[in-house]
Amino acid sequence: MSAHPPKLVFFDCDTTLSGIEGVDELARLRGPTVLAAVAAMTTAAMEGGTPLEQVFARRLDLIRPRRADMDVIGRLYLEHVEPTAKETIAELKAAGWTPVVLSAGYTPAIEPLAKLLGIARIEAVQLRFDAAGNYAGFDESFPTTRAQGKPARIRELKRELRPVRTAMVGDGVSDLEATAAVDVFVGFGGFVERAKVRAGARHFIHRLSELPALLG
Ligand SMILES: [Mg+2]
Repeated sequence: MSAHPPKLVFFDCDTTLSGIEGVDELARLRGPTVLAAVAAMTTAAMEGGTPLEQVFARRLDLIRPRRADMDVIGRLYLEHVEPTAKETIAELKAAGWTPVVLSAGYTPAIEPLAKLLGIARIEAVQLRFDAAGNYAGFDESFPTTRAQGKPARIRELKRELRPVRTAMVGDGVSDLEATAAVDVFVGFGGFVERAKVRAGARHFIHRLSELPALLG
């Protein structure tokens, strides 16, 4: 982070920076029954019908992700990276923006994608594993595990980093909730277009390369 007050642009990860939903891909590793149950919960939460905290622990309890699964999802994030993400983030950084991943996904799976894209800061959920690499819980205190968690975390980061300008881009209702906490909210429909987000967002784009013109 530079010594100057930063401009912060927060990126959702799943179906924004990359075309997959990491939690659904984790569920797929456990077979079709777990996948169907988890995907239904993810969709209900991202479309705003169910508060995120009602599904967050339940999905993980069904999947019980192992440490090694994080590498599988990390590779999938890379394979499905939004086609203009890397150049867009470079362009935004050159214009003085500091990119931050703000996600309800799992930090160890997101790290390779963030590295590829030149994003130094990941605000996502830490998982716990036992010595054998088996699932042992998640950081329940992290705000993005709950509804209204993204604006809550943005407000914490604004107190910490004192940005002069903030923006958020994402496809889900949990991203749209951040509207009141940032200067500019941009809805994203490049992978999944959600009606509630499209209706609620003042700006809506289908390629991340449309972002720099909106942010200036
Ligand atoms: Mg998303």
